[in-house]
Amino acid sequence: MEPQQRSPLLEVRGNIELKKPLIKAPSRLPLPGTRFKRGPDQMEDALEPEKKRTRGLDTVTKIATSQSRAPAITARTQTQNQITAPKVPKKTGPRCSTAIAMVLKNQKSGPAVPAQKPGAAPPMVGGRKPTKRPAWDLKGQLCDLNAELKCCRERTQTLAQENQQLQDQLREAQQQAKARGAECRTLEGELARVQAQAEQGQQELGSLRARVLELEEQQCTQEGLLRELQKEQLGLQEERRGLAARLEEQERRLQASEAALSGSQAEVASLRQEATGQAALLVEQGERLHGLEMERRRLHNQLQELKGNIRVFCRVRPVLPGEPTPPPSFLLFPSGPGGPADPPTRLSVSRCDERRGTLSGAPAPATRHDFSFDRVFPPGSRQDEVFEEIAMLVQSALDGYPVCIFAYGQTGSGKTFTMEGGPGRDPQVEGLIPRALRHLFSVAQELGGQGWTYSFVASYVEIYNETVRDLLATGPRKGQGGECEIRRAGPGSEELTVTNARYVPVSCEKEVEALLHLAHQNRAVARTSQNERSSRSHSVFQLQISGEHTGRGLQCGASLNLVDLAGSERLDPSLALGPGERDRLRETQAINSSLSTLGLVIMALSNKESHIPYRNSKLTYLLQNSLGGSAKMLMFVNISPLEENVSESLNSLRFASKVQLPPGPGPVRTPGCL
Ligand code: ADP
Ligand code: MG
Repeated sequence: MEPQQRSPLLEVRGNIELKKPLIKAPSRLPLPGTRFKRGPDQMEDALEPEKKRTRGLDTVTKIATSQSRAPAITARTQTQNQITAPKVPKKTGPRCSTAIAMVLKNQKSGPAVPAQKPGAAPPMVGGRKPTKRPAWDLKGQLCDLNAELKCCRERTQTLAQENQQLQDQLREAQQQAKARGAECRTLEGELARVQAQAEQGQQELGSLRARVLELEEQQCTQEGLLRELQKEQLGLQEERRGLAARLEEQERRLQASEAALSGSQAEVASLRQEATGQAALLVEQGERLHGLEMERRRLHNQLQELKGNIRVFCRVRPVLPGEPTPPPSFLLFPSGPGGPADPPTRLSVSRCDERRGTLSGAPAPATRHDFSFDRVFPPGSRQDEVFEEIAMLVQSALDGYPVCIFAYGQTGSGKTFTMEGGPGRDPQVEGLIPRALRHLFSVAQELGGQGWTYSFVASYVEIYNETVRDLLATGPRKGQGGECEIRRAGPGSEELTVTNARYVPVSCEKEVEALLHLAHQNRAVARTSQNERSSRSHSVFQLQISGEHTGRGLQCGASLNLVDLAGSERLDPSLALGPGERDRLRETQAINSSLSTLGLVIMALSNKESHIPYRNSKLTYLLQNSLGGSAKMLMFVNISPLEENVSESLNSLRFASKVQLPPGPGPVRTPGCL
């Protein structure tokens, strides 16, 4: 690690370690103010060579060092001379010291020592100390003194040398002291710096301690965190173990799945092979199916033709609440050859003619009028039963055969109920139009599986007083009449179209419902107080059906026409005609004319006449392409169950009987009937 990367704490500690000895270790240099207060050992070390020679000068040195420098040297020299004298004998021998002592004594108090023999050595007392020369031994004394002097001179010389050396040493010591003073100052500076550093260190230490405390707190927090993390880790480890177990389980399942997959793949391969075979089979069956479908169409058409391209159904509505109940024998529905299980095809109407009477004056017996049709629906027949009978016919339109269904009868006999349905949105009373369209949409969808695509376009017009009006008109044209004309779709075209009429593509029953609702609204707008116009006009719902089998390049097209004819009742010629009645007469004449034209056209078609009078009315002109040829026609003759309407009922039944195909049984007339 680089030094600068050390933590501040460590750095400071290092500094402190370094600095401590500087503060506490005893300096080898004299401190200020203690320059000459050197310890004995130190002085001894400094003056070691000399000391060994001048051991006896210790006291002198000590004294000298307590004085100022220059005088100290002087004083030492004097004191040395004074004090060291007694010690001389230690080094110079007893003789020398004795001599000095003698000299000193003599200088002070004169000779007091007894003389000794000149030249002879002073006698030893007890062998310890030379005895003093007798006073008379001057020569000896002189000799001693000389010796003493010599000794002193030597000593002086030695001392001078020593003095010299000491002075040198002193100088050296002074120099050293000076140097040490400088060093001391340096050290003082250093000390100050060190102290400053120490203070700074203290501060740092303080802050470091605070930091340490903070860090310790942090450490506590971290330790808490660590404990939490450890706990969490334990949890995670537990979870990991759970996940590992799950993973193992998943892997086991994956392996099982893989095994199953490989099994499935093998199965898929075999299924593919099988599918290829099936596809070939499917193609073959498709071919067969198509052949069967074409055969079905052919047979269906044959069946319809056998049933008759022009069929007549009679429907008797129930007695409505508030209407008088007719006598029980008024309308009878005799069973067919198969008994009551057979659907009824016959109707018997009983009529009492009040104008006729017996000779005895008693009322003439009622005349029965029996009619036979392709199917008779008594009053209790439901809408779905009625539709069931025409469903096959409606399907012919999908197969490409034009279909026309008429509702004929006097006003109030149930034509609109049969065609459009009863009031409200009750599905039970839905009429033939919504049911037929639902059936067509559903069969078209089924045929879609065989490659057929169908499209449907609807139009709804009414013919009133030989004028055509669009019942699907919206916006400002709503309720307006007399604007539409029947025209050929193009030059040379057989197809007819109504100008200004809306042709609306439909694909579901909701759309058809909306159209019927719109037509109902349009009729309501045209209604007047005198005249219930809907009963005085023909309503024609046309559905253009186009089918295409692109795979085989086949196309088929036909139209389904559902016609609610105007009321067939006639005006009573005996009634006096008011101004409003004249209009009514004109209407009635137009209605009668168009209805009889329809009858004539149908009869001409069934008689296969060369001329068919289509142009004699707007209705037959509009429907000419859906009548005759391979077209299928069905007429509902609607009958009121009321006795009061018997005359109109018989008229309607007679009209219907006339239009029935000649090969059919035709109306069975009882004697006396017409
Ligand atoms: P039209 O159209 O021939 O004038 P409607 O269809 O308007 O006659 O019928 C006249 C009345 O008789 C209506 O109230 C209608 O609901 C009712 N009605 C007709 N036929 C039936 C029937 N089969 N069942 C029940 N009510 C009927
Ligand atoms: Mg009606």
